[in-house]
Amino acid sequence: MAWRSIMRYFQFHQMICPHKITRVALDMDGVIANFCKAARAAMGDPYPKEPFQIPDGWLDNNDKNLWVYCKGHNFWKNIKPFPWHKKLIKVVDDNCDDWRFITKPSNDVGSYSGKYEWIKEHTKGGIDKLWMVNGSKAYACTGPHHLLIDDNTKNCEEWRAAGGAAYQWSEISANWPEKEVQKRLDEIEELLQN
Ligand SMILES: [Mg+2]
Repeated sequence: MAWRSIMRYFQFHQMICPHKITRVALDMDGVIANFCKAARAAMGDPYPKEPFQIPDGWLDNNDKNLWVYCKGHNFWKNIKPFPWHKKLIKVVDDNCDDWRFITKPSNDVGSYSGKYEWIKEHTKGGIDKLWMVNGSKAYACTGPHHLLIDDNTKNCEEWRAAGGAAYQWSEISANWPEKEVQKRLDEIEELLQN
């Protein structure tokens, strides 16, 4: 039994990152900030009980795009943090000396200032670690020692293609069992400690 657990851990670790991780890029929306809930509210739709990922080209009944609603400084600033955001930041900070928040602003200018203020309000000293990238996040990847934690499949794939390691923190609703959150926090801690 113990042997099976060791093997499973080994396989998990090798799969995600065969190299020692010395840098982390931690995504905001979908990981520590509940963009989905804010976007659904802005579009007048209820927050789903089950995990739900908003497609980029999401349209309302009048064919209006998601980005018509999700804009302005206050929209971005007022996004609620997920209940686990402090714990996740702490796991990264406790186990890695060189890490950054990484986020891709939208084409809306308010997205820049709103995200800046979100970090200022919900983290301690996070402004110094806030990294906004346009286009692909993978341009920020510095090699196999660099771990991206992100909810988006495409971002994780591009990061891996650029030679980095990625942990996909799939979008989860606020009602998700604490057990699942803890499992993910433990997995990330293991990755960073080895
Ligand atoms: Mg995201």
